[in-house]
Amino acid sequence: TGLNQQSLAQLPSHVDTPTYDRSAVKAGIVHIGVGGFHRAHQAVYVNELLKTPGSEQWGICGVGLLEGNRGLRDILKQQDYLYTLTVRHPDGKIDNKVIGSMIDFLFAPEDKQAVINKLAHSDTKIVSLTITEGGYNFNPATGEFDTSNPDIINDINNPNDPITAFGYITAALKLRKEQGLGAFTVQSCDNIQHNGNVTRKMLLAFATEQDKDLSEWIEQNVSFPNAMVDRITPVSKKSDIDYVVDAYGVSDEWPITCESFTQWVIEDTFSDSRPNWDVVGAQFVTDVTPYETMKIRLLNAGHSVLGLLGSIHGYGTIDETVSDELFATYLRAFMDKEVTPNLEPLEGIDLESYKDTLIERFANPNIKDSLSRICSESAAKLPKFLIATINENLAHGRDVSLAALVIAAWCFYSDKEVDEQGNKLEVIDAMQRELHEAAVKTHTQPLAFLSLTSLFGNLSDQNEFTTHYKNNIEALYAPASKVKAIMKNVLDQK
Ligand code: NAD
Repeated sequence: TGLNQQSLAQLPSHVDTPTYDRSAVKAGIVHIGVGGFHRAHQAVYVNELLKTPGSEQWGICGVGLLEGNRGLRDILKQQDYLYTLTVRHPDGKIDNKVIGSMIDFLFAPEDKQAVINKLAHSDTKIVSLTITEGGYNFNPATGEFDTSNPDIINDINNPNDPITAFGYITAALKLRKEQGLGAFTVQSCDNIQHNGNVTRKMLLAFATEQDKDLSEWIEQNVSFPNAMVDRITPVSKKSDIDYVVDAYGVSDEWPITCESFTQWVIEDTFSDSRPNWDVVGAQFVTDVTPYETMKIRLLNAGHSVLGLLGSIHGYGTIDETVSDELFATYLRAFMDKEVTPNLEPLEGIDLESYKDTLIERFANPNIKDSLSRICSESAAKLPKFLIATINENLAHGRDVSLAALVIAAWCFYSDKEVDEQGNKLEVIDAMQRELHEAAVKTHTQPLAFLSLTSLFGNLSDQNEFTTHYKNNIEALYAPASKVKAIMKNVLDQK
């Protein structure tokens, strides 16, 4: 049997199923970009909330804008929008849950007006997004809205025939304005610093090109709460489907697997009403900035430390890398000595246990997060994740030796694109060519990589940094060098 509303009753009792009456649930949230992360994060918070009385107005209607979402629509429809979440704890324990918070899904390429009408419906209070960083249409170098994108040009000129999220949202807000309905909240759940502010800036830039009056109305009426989101959710695999059949004899064609840790910190600035997500573990705050900084400087930078050094050594996944004691020691020293001094104390967060938990999460053997995914788009990630930490330490006269090796390793990785065993590395970066061209000059100009000033600013002029960097470059480029010996050496001198 396949998973659906009817087969729910046949599931074994150890599977957590929706205990609420799904037929009474209305869609107060319309979510664009129903990927793995949404199904492991926001949809799960809503699922838990729906178990509490008086929450039935907060169900989710999913929306797929891309042609590639057709298969997802077919599967969800056939399963009455139910899916399995397999939560894999670091100690090997597994929880299975059927998530029931999605009650409908609209596939935009087949009926655009249905999507606009749904967004404009008076029940819709929140339009949430996980459309990946690319979906926000900003130029990564300038942070400005990119008006050269052909889909955006289409949407500016054809308000009733949209393709992009901005086109749909604007069309729906126009209808709401005309009908005297209030605005909905636009809530980004993507992993972008100040995701609400970015969404606001891009949507207003888009709307201004299309309709100045509407843009002003949006500016005055629509809220875009910033949020920090966290739950490691790898891409679903065939083995995840097989696991569900084996575990409880019902087939689910698109289950989601994720880690047990989850966090959601949201600025409490909604246009209209909002669910009480704090009742089910989320946190409402007035300023999300320090939470974002903590997460990006420890989790994301920590991933990059393991990713770059581990790739050169020849490891393939995060758990494999961090279970090597030297890598775990290096990571912890980096977090304690070079990141923590720059972090403000945060209400409700014990930094020491946050770091312990991070290492435990990275070591989870059931979440096979690949180093190539972690190192992908390092040029977009490292300025915010790691270089900001280096600059702050230099400004305070603090040591930067552990981070300097990571930057030297990034140069070596970009130059050679092979590991110590000579295996080809899978390098994925929009700036791959520039990174490689700068890095190959290293053997004649040791600081050549740092000349990419859009990434490194003036780091090449700072002796406190370059002394360590040059030593590490020399060591990495020495014949038969071993990154683990270099890491040990840097740690011993710390
Ligand atoms: P995914 O590929 O499973 O899902 C992305 C979804 O967005 C898909 O449904 C896709 O069709 C849609 N999409 C992509 N580009 C789009 C566009 N331009 N316009 C409209 N829809 C678009 O990826 P995921 O793992 O769900 O991650 C999505 C985002 O969630 C990430 O980019 C990140 O910002 C955030 N996130 C992910 C994780 C994680 O561990 N996977 C953790 C924290 C945050």
